[in-house]
Amino acid sequence: MLKEKLIMIIIDTITLVGKMNEMNEEKVLNELKKYQEMDLKYEEGRILGSMCTKPHPISRKIAQMFFETNLGDPGLFKGTKLLEEEVISMIGKFLKNENPFGYIISGGTEANLTAIRAMKNVSRSKNNGKNNDNKLKVIIPETAHFSFEKAREMMDLEVIRPPLTKYYTMDVKFIRDFVEDNHVDGIVGIAGCTELGTIDNIKKISKIAEENDIFLHVDAAFGGFVIPFLDNRYKLKNYSYEFDFSLGGVSSITIDPHKMGLAPIPAGGILFRDISFKKYLDVDAPYLTETQQATLVGTRTGVGVASTWGIIKLLGEKGYRDVVSQCMDKTYYLVIRAKEYGFEPVINPILNIVSIKDENPNKTCEDLRKMGWYVSVCKCVNALRIVLMPHIELEHIDEFLESLSSLKKN
Ligand code: PLP
Repeated sequence: MLKEKLIMIIIDTITLVGKMNEMNEEKVLNELKKYQEMDLKYEEGRILGSMCTKPHPISRKIAQMFFETNLGDPGLFKGTKLLEEEVISMIGKFLKNENPFGYIISGGTEANLTAIRAMKNVSRSKNNGKNNDNKLKVIIPETAHFSFEKAREMMDLEVIRPPLTKYYTMDVKFIRDFVEDNHVDGIVGIAGCTELGTIDNIKKISKIAEENDIFLHVDAAFGGFVIPFLDNRYKLKNYSYEFDFSLGGVSSITIDPHKMGLAPIPAGGILFRDISFKKYLDVDAPYLTETQQATLVGTRTGVGVASTWGIIKLLGEKGYRDVVSQCMDKTYYLVIRAKEYGFEPVINPILNIVSIKDENPNKTCEDLRKMGWYVSVCKCVNALRIVLMPHIELEHIDEFLESLSSLKKN
C-alpha cells in the first residue's frame, strides 16, 4: 500500500516538474506578453485617476542594474545603501532639512504606517511606560488617505477627526481647543490630499504641535514632489503652502518618488527630522549584516532608491519645476474646458488634481469605464476626480470631456 502511494507521488512529481519545464524562454516571454497586453498603457491617456505615471525612461536601465539588490541586508549592498543615504539627503534638502533620517520604501502606505509606529513609540517613551494600555490618540483629517485606516486598525488608534473648513482642510481652531483640553499623542496633516489636492494649514498646526510637544506627521506622498517645485503663478492668494521641516513642529514627512517624482514603483519615502527617531523604529535583527532594522518591510529592493537617485540627478530642480508647470498648465486647461461644457470644479485647483461636481459620481465613473475612461471618485464630496499626471496630453482632456458631455446628454 505504502509502496503504491510512493510510486504515485514519484509519478506526480515527475509530471509536475515536466509541467514546470513545459515552456522555453521564448514561449514564457510570449505568454507574458499576452497578459501584459491586457494592461492599460499610460501613454494612451485613459488613466485619469492615478497618482502614478510612466516612469522616467532612465529608470529602465537603472532597474536592470540594480534588480538584484536587497536593502533588507544593507551590509551586503553597501553601494546601494550609500545611494539611499544620498537620496534621503537630496530629498531632505528640498524639504529644508540638512540632517534627515529616512528610507525609500514600498510606498506612501508603508511610509505612513512607519510614521505612526514612530509616533506611538515616541509617545510611549515620553510616558515612561505609564498609560501604555490607553489607546494612542491621534488627530487625523477626514481627507486622509485610507492607509491611515490601516494604521488605525493595526495600532488600535483612537482617531479624532476635526471638522473640515470650506476649503476642505482641518479646522485649526478645533485642533487648538482639543489639544488644550485633552491629551493627544500625535497629529497628521496632509500636504496634497488624495481626493482634492488640498493642503492643511501645516504652519499653524506645526506651531500647536511644537508648543504642546506633540508628534506631527505630514503626509506629502503626492504633494512632496509638487509643492517645492510649484511656480508662484499657480499659487492661490492667502493659501498656506508651507509643509516642510522648516516648520519646527514637523517630525516626519511621507514623500513618494513613485508619484510625481517619476520613479518606478516601488519607491515611497519616509523622512524624519533627524537620526534620533531611529531608536523608536529599530528592532534586533541578529542574523543580518546590520543587527538593527527600522523598516517595516525586511527584504526590499534597491531599484527605487537607485532610480530616484538617477532621476533627481538628471532632472534637478529645473527639471521637476518644468514637469510640475506642465501638469499645472494641463490642470488649468481642464478646468477652463470643463466649465465651457457646464461642469463645475469643487475648488480652484491647488495642485494638479481636479474634482468635478457630480450628483452620482460612482455611476458616472462606472459608465465612463465602459467607454474606456478610468477616473476615480471623491469620498468627502460628490465629485469625479482627475489627476493630471505627466502622461496626460491636451487631446486626452478634450476627448475625455467630449465623452463625459455625451454621457450627460443621454
Ligand atoms: N498618502 C497619500 C496622500 C496618497 O495620495 C496615497 C496614494 O494615493 C498614499 C498615501 C498611499 O500611497 P501608496 O499607494 O504608494 O501606498
